[in-house]
Amino acid sequence: MLYLVGTPIGNMGDISSRAVEILSSVDYIACEDTRVTGILLKNLGIEEHKLISYHEHNKASKGQELVDLLKQGFNVAQVSDAGMPAISDPGEDLVKLCIEQDVEFTVVPGPVAAITALVLSGISTRRYHYEGFLPNSGSERRKRLKELPKYDETIVLYEAPHRLRKLVSELKEEGFGPSRAAFCRELTKKYEEVLRMTIDEAEAYYEQTEPRGEYVVCLEPAVKAAPVFDDEYIDSEIRRLREEGMSVKEIAKVLSDATGFNKKEMYSRAVSLLKS
Ligand code: SAM
Repeated sequence: MLYLVGTPIGNMGDISSRAVEILSSVDYIACEDTRVTGILLKNLGIEEHKLISYHEHNKASKGQELVDLLKQGFNVAQVSDAGMPAISDPGEDLVKLCIEQDVEFTVVPGPVAAITALVLSGISTRRYHYEGFLPNSGSERRKRLKELPKYDETIVLYEAPHRLRKLVSELKEEGFGPSRAAFCRELTKKYEEVLRMTIDEAEAYYEQTEPRGEYVVCLEPAVKAAPVFDDEYIDSEIRRLREEGMSVKEIAKVLSDATGFNKKEMYSRAVSLLKS
């Protein structure tokens, strides 16, 4: 059986008793960095010899080796350096392999940096988009950045300190300047810090202050400019609503309700536009 075991994101007190029980009893523990997990195990008084390295760069070959051990009947735990495996961490691939090869697995839940930050942020937790790390650079990064203003829920990002300033200015370029954000670092640790400010304010703040530590950034959706109800807007709405299958009468009602314009006017505009 494979156990995906959540481990602390900083505060060792956050390890669950079930996690300790599983880590103590399994035959092998697959981890990203044997030094990091070695320290955790030492703190818990668990032997380190069962560690197997499993990370982003060896996951293609090591994943199958782990599945083979599971098929032989060994119990294996998988942990990441911090928090929940498979959340911006290898683990996701191991889950897929287990499903493909019909190998049993379960989760021993623990802290997640994204969720911890979201709760601390004061920004809506009702609906959120987990973005995690943006690609480091290049067109892939630009592509993801261009997508962000389309979300109308809270956005949760992970970022390394040396790229935080860049991230803030990129978010500003994409129209997030007035959006409120929470910059969360050292979560669950002694010097936990949550700074709540707009992206515009963050740009000024981080010009003066060197970003330190790993960050979770929670972000309000981009403020979208209110549409201008000009002829061009009305005509494009008529075409769009028609494509959705509405009758001219329905289009006139929807547009009149949305803009406050006279329903008869909207009706005759739709009739003449759609016959041309
Ligand atoms: N699996 C982890 C989880 O459950 O959240 C995330 C692992 S991801 C490789 C590491 C990133 O998580 C860091 O770069 C940072 O953005 C965030 N992170 C992890 N621990 C954190 C902490 N104590 N404070 C702030 N951010 C943290």
